[in-house]
Amino acid sequence: MSRAEKPDSAKQTQSLQDVIAAIRKPLSFIAKDQFSNISKVKGLESSLAPHVKALKSFGDRGRKAAEAISRLIDNYDAIGSDKLKSERIKTVLKLLERLGSEPASHKPIGISHQLAQKIKALDTPIQFLKGVGPARAEMFKKLKIESIEDALLNLPRAYEDRRNITRIFDIDDGDRVTVVGEILLKGIVKTRRRIFEIVIGDGSGTLSLKWFHKYGWVDKKFKKGMKVIVNGAVKRYFDNREMHHPEMTIMEDEPGPDMYRVLPIYNATEGLTQNVLRKIMGRAVSDHSANWPEEVVPADLRGKFELMDSVSALEYLHNPPNDAQIIALNSKTTPAHTRMVFEELFALEVGLAIRRRGIKSEHAPALNTKSEMVKTFLSSLPFKLTKAQDEAMQDIMEDISQPQPMSRLMEGDVGCGKTVVALAGALAAVASGKQAAFMAPTEILAVQHYKTITQVTKGMGISVGLLTGSLAPSDKERLKRQIGAGSVDIVVGTHAVIQKDVRFNDLAYAVIDEQHRFGVQQRALIREGATEGKLPHVLVMTATPIPRTLALTLYGDLDLTIIDEMPPGRIPIKTRVFRESKRVNAYEQVRNELKKGRQAYIVFPLVEQSEKLDLKDATRMYEELRRNVFPEFKLKLIHGQMKPAEKEAAMRSFVGGEADALISTTVIEVGIDVPNASVMLVENAERFGLSQLHQLRGRVGRGEHQSWCLLVAQKISTPEAYQRLKVMERTNDGFKIAEKDLEIRGPGEFMGTRQSGLPDFRVANIARDQKTLINAREAALQVVEEDPFLEKPEHAALKLMMQRRWKEKLSLASIG
Ligand code: ADP
Ligand code: MG
Repeated sequence: MSRAEKPDSAKQTQSLQDVIAAIRKPLSFIAKDQFSNISKVKGLESSLAPHVKALKSFGDRGRKAAEAISRLIDNYDAIGSDKLKSERIKTVLKLLERLGSEPASHKPIGISHQLAQKIKALDTPIQFLKGVGPARAEMFKKLKIESIEDALLNLPRAYEDRRNITRIFDIDDGDRVTVVGEILLKGIVKTRRRIFEIVIGDGSGTLSLKWFHKYGWVDKKFKKGMKVIVNGAVKRYFDNREMHHPEMTIMEDEPGPDMYRVLPIYNATEGLTQNVLRKIMGRAVSDHSANWPEEVVPADLRGKFELMDSVSALEYLHNPPNDAQIIALNSKTTPAHTRMVFEELFALEVGLAIRRRGIKSEHAPALNTKSEMVKTFLSSLPFKLTKAQDEAMQDIMEDISQPQPMSRLMEGDVGCGKTVVALAGALAAVASGKQAAFMAPTEILAVQHYKTITQVTKGMGISVGLLTGSLAPSDKERLKRQIGAGSVDIVVGTHAVIQKDVRFNDLAYAVIDEQHRFGVQQRALIREGATEGKLPHVLVMTATPIPRTLALTLYGDLDLTIIDEMPPGRIPIKTRVFRESKRVNAYEQVRNELKKGRQAYIVFPLVEQSEKLDLKDATRMYEELRRNVFPEFKLKLIHGQMKPAEKEAAMRSFVGGEADALISTTVIEVGIDVPNASVMLVENAERFGLSQLHQLRGRVGRGEHQSWCLLVAQKISTPEAYQRLKVMERTNDGFKIAEKDLEIRGPGEFMGTRQSGLPDFRVANIARDQKTLINAREAALQVVEEDPFLEKPEHAALKLMMQRRWKEKLSLASIG
């Protein structure tokens, strides 16, 4: 948690007003008497530059405003029309007005003396806790523990149950037990793959402990002859008993009164052993748990959700009572866990709810959703909408007919038909005399959208423009002018292009496809495209089925629509997992399909995340496949290091049917539509997450033919990895797969390590704590509904905690 933030001083507030005034001055002059001075002012951009720069130092809001203003006055003198110039000036003036009059944004929170004292205690550097000191404080830093508060939130990774130590002889298959024994043997077992093994004995028998990966530290830490305590599930084959990846600690203490207790196991580091940690954490709890501000969760909610009080919860977690249940402790589902998890999620959801409310209090054009144009469009579709599509469309239509901006996430598996649903909203915008934008993450997808949209709106007198990076500069300029003048109704393009350099005449509706690659910032950007103070309605779409809980934390400020139904008549894709040794069978199946005139994708993973290796691998395999495996067919290669034009060309030859198979790294596009492609072969499938595999699989099965997904697993390091892939054979349901994936890999991995938007939780795990999350969200909505700016005294602690924890992350400008 961040250190306490200093409230903005009055001096700074004052000078923000100064800066705003300095920027406003020339603009007001220009705007005077209906912009009669518009042609008199030159060099506006350079004269404002120092003030705009100064604006950047006023926090997140200042910086954002500065960026927006820079864009609006970029190359001001060169702007062709006075109308456009005046529109931009108007927008800047609006922006300044909003910036200057932000409600209560610098009002200090009225926190009581008592709360202030508590927070001060929690903020105390860990160094000053008895028994720590500067040297150990450095070590604690490695564990990301810098303050007392950090220490209290450093919950045990697991618990060791010394109440019931089991004799090895008595263990049955499947038991979860704790065993105390001495290390008899250790070393690498050479089988087909490397396994690290330790054998312990306790006089009644021996137990074999096995690690299949990440055993370096085990090898380093544990020596022959040491006494250890291990905990885990045992597999028993006759007289052999095995435990895989057990929890294991050195028994440092002599068996004393502590012997028969439940002990916490913390993440340890060099110099901070379990024994030391237990002592210090114990002290942090006994001295400071009472400083935890219980009232962060208001009393009525504590009652409603039957939450434990936080002081007892902290004590329970760090020093479990003797009647605690070890399974609940280790699965982190005790009421004490629930309390701390609730609190953390609650503060986040409150932040999100406030942001959501901020959006809803803005203005947007109320669109005419009942127009002939929309009706014509729907009746001219060559198919009937599915029930799920119909409901999704109603959600959208309901939203955009209101004078507040829609802010909605539409999730639906690949091929469920999101495009037409989104398009219906676009037509409502056009019918209301306004513009719509469709943004795709890549050029190929933008082109695909463009084709679909022009096709289904043919003969309706709608002008659709395609704006991408590869347009010739002069064409691009012309199109941008037309968009600015309002003569293009629907603009399709890549996110980058549309967000960077397009000024709309009157943008009322924006669709962002494949949102999961983009974050909050991109969504904020589009809001700056507002005309006349009205924000466009925004619909974000994703084909990555994001489990509901994850969606609620990542996109908790958005409303959620889920399309969970496929158009009828699709033949479900069949999936098969092949071991390396059966690779030829997979190739045979590909050949069968190619012989029938179908097409195939063959996908390789990025090797070690290294572009160079990736290149070598796909290229090498391409040569191999072309020469020795499929010499009779035409293969094309596509990889991340190719120039965009080369990629396009390869893609085009596949889309056009000239190439039989596309060999690629994962650069092939999400949502690419080639109905004739009926087989997807994935190499090294074990390297992909399940959701990624599901995405890849979605590239086939788009036509009238039975399609196949063949997963070749090269190195299966553990039986679990193979079982994991087998999930793909069993279900085609993207949501089920996503839930499983989230459960197996955890939220961070699930979203991809480079994904920024994910909140980093101290105690919560949204894969595990789904139910608590739902409750915390409900509670948060209730609080924000009653007290939108958290101004009531009973919400002071909550407000403070939410700010300390989430303010930066959520760019919550409007709350102090
Ligand atoms: P996605 O949700 O993956 O973006 P698309 O919108 O690209 O899916 O739709 C996939 C295909 O299904 C398109 O060719 C589209 O025309 C078609 N389609 C959409 N809705 C229906 C429906 N209700 N019945 C039949 N086909 C549909
Ligand atoms: Mg799509």
